[in-house]
Amino acid sequence: MKIKLIVFVLVILVSCSKDKGIRIGIQPFGNFDSKIIDTISTTIQRKYGFKTSILPTAPLPQEAFTNIKSPRYRADVLIKYLKENKADTLDYIIGLTDQDISVTKKDVFGNVKAPKEKYGDWGIFGLGYCPGSSSIISSFRLRNKYKKLFVERIKKVSIHELGHNLGLNHCENTLCVMQDAVESIRTTDKAKMDLCSNCKRKLNSSLYQLYSIVGRF
Ligand SMILES: [Zn+2]
Ligand SMILES: [Zn+2]
Repeated sequence: MKIKLIVFVLVILVSCSKDKGIRIGIQPFGNFDSKIIDTISTTIQRKYGFKTSILPTAPLPQEAFTNIKSPRYRADVLIKYLKENKADTLDYIIGLTDQDISVTKKDVFGNVKAPKEKYGDWGIFGLGYCPGSSSIISSFRLRNKYKKLFVERIKKVSIHELGHNLGLNHCENTLCVMQDAVESIRTTDKAKMDLCSNCKRKLNSSLYQLYSIVGRF
């Protein structure tokens, strides 16, 4: 009985400490601050326990450019581009840009949300499908005179969009990093730089279903 218990405890310890082996690529576009890229990379490693690689800077794909209201890059085109160009050695890829990015906001019927002039090309902080393998984060709307706050926002949006890719939907908990920003950066500012215990549980079960691995959240 004692031996059985020891074996059981050992199995649990081995599965908990097992390297998740998930690789995240970070793709900077244009002139993205290299110190902030390093900070995002470290944040992903610490918060998710994944390995990260910072890829060489690339120019933004011109097919994503639009100038409906102002010069912007379509976020849906960017994440499609990232997904299609992702190396097979990477599981997920996060794009970073300092340019403004946008999407078309739809209503529950799939039509462009009213008023169309506002939502046809709507500026956003980041986009990642749930689930998905690529996301894009823009620092354009996260700017603040306080650099610390600016960097915190970029980190939170990165954790949030990768969370979507990993199968997490929006969370009701106002302190959770997975809550919906509902068109205001203040919502993101109030959230903690972390997943709530409920989201951590969901993430663990999602990782187990996807990769048969147990996280250390
Ligand atoms: Zn979201
Ligand atoms: Zn949550």
